[in-house]
Amino acid sequence: AKSQGKNRAVFYSERFDRVLSLQMAMETELRKAIERDEFVLHYQPQVDAASRKLVGVEALIRWQKQPGVMVSPAEFIPLAEETGLIVPIGEWVIRTACRQAKRWMDAGAPEFHMSVNLSPRQFSEANFVEVVSSVLDETGLPPDRLVLEITEGIAIQDVRETVEKLVALKRIGVLVSMDDFGTGYSSLAYLTLYQVDALKIAQTFISGVSADSDRASIVKAILAMASSLRLTVIAEGVETEEQYLFLKNHGCDWIQGYYFHKPLSAEEVSLLFAEAAA
Ligand code: C2E
Ligand code: CA
Ligand code: CA
Repeated sequence: AKSQGKNRAVFYSERFDRVLSLQMAMETELRKAIERDEFVLHYQPQVDAASRKLVGVEALIRWQKQPGVMVSPAEFIPLAEETGLIVPIGEWVIRTACRQAKRWMDAGAPEFHMSVNLSPRQFSEANFVEVVSSVLDETGLPPDRLVLEITEGIAIQDVRETVEKLVALKRIGVLVSMDDFGTGYSSLAYLTLYQVDALKIAQTFISGVSADSDRASIVKAILAMASSLRLTVIAEGVETEEQYLFLKNHGCDWIQGYYFHKPLSAEEVSLLFAEAAA
């Protein structure tokens, strides 16, 4: 029995080493990915619930590691966050998204917003506000076209610093949206404290609205509260007509999800804007 225990320990430590070296290899690759221009943004359209018109897009990063190999953000954002690489990657995302949005504006796209995801680490950088403001200057995108999606992970860092940065961003004219609303803690307190403009109802609530009456009640309560706080509400992960109709009938403003559109390439979104403008 003793030797078995020892074997097991060896086995675990080998496996641990393998995981670590995989992670290190990935970190090295991730470091090079920016220089090699391997990241791409896809854009998922958001539509107005009542008119079904395109009102915005959310930029979603992908890593084109090799031709034909697309790595999803769920696989590398956590490591990027842990290593701090999210800071340059995140800056690349903001710049690329703003540049693309300005291009669509100049091509005559009807009014729309560009939403960008922020990671807590990126937001906590001392010069974050300056980065946003210089990207807006550089690209010429009007600030009120940009929506920064924050999560409650940002919210539970240093509260005073978070409030100061959000106030500074508001002064620039940028909009702020609370992502994955309802999945963290103290959501309600933060909504007013951080004076967000919009909230996104997390997909977990949306997926249950037609089958699960508890989740339907939660969504109705969020919609009622958001309306009294005059917040724009976006439902994400909407996959069925039933979910869409429920949300529309209870006053949800915008819809994002496979029911309308999957995340699309910039070229595909250009076509949608061209159709909308025609
Ligand atoms: P998120 O911000 O909650 O983004 C929504 C995710 O849901 C996206 O996954 C999107 O493709 C997916 N989705 C949209 N509609 C549907 C639907 O109807 N059904 C289902 N099942 N899924 C849907 P994606 O692109 O894999 O991104 C995953 C997460 O990675 C994002 O979650 C976000 O937290 C993070 N992420 C993506 N891009 C960035 C980025 O540029 N910076 C940072 N910091 N995080 C990012
Ligand atoms: Ca998001
Ligand atoms: Ca989300």
